[in-house]
Amino acid sequence: MTPDIEAVRPLPRFPEPDTEPFYARCREHRLSYQTCRKCGAIVFYPRSHCTRCTSTELMWHDSEGRGTIYSVTIMRQHGHPAFRARLPMAVALVDVDEGFRLLAEIVTDDPFSVHIGQPVTVAWITEGEVTLPGFTPVAES
Ligand SMILES: [Zn+2]
Repeated sequence: MTPDIEAVRPLPRFPEPDTEPFYARCREHRLSYQTCRKCGAIVFYPRSHCTRCTSTELMWHDSEGRGTIYSVTIMRQHGHPAFRARLPMAVALVDVDEGFRLLAEIVTDDPFSVHIGQPVTVAWITEGEVTLPGFTPVAES
């Protein structure tokens, strides 16, 4: 039997045209988001059109990768072996400084210390060919 630690987490298998630029930038450790040329709305997660005005004229930008914890939960059990090996694990909604919110794993040895309002910075999680954005706590001032 294969040990749980070798299990690979579920990953996006079929990048679509709307998401491929995002994952390509992740491989370069660039956290990206879109804005609308017509109305200026911030668009995240990656899409083909603006969620405010439906324009398809979107522009890509790189985030500085800093944000704060909006909400957090601790995963204590999970049905998938790739996650079981990492428990307990903090998963949070992160308000990124550029104005979008992202659900992500918080990479830390102390998941119980993660709290609302905590500053975080992007921490890249690479599994095989896929790189995903996670976050890690930074010192609070
Ligand atoms: Zn728009």
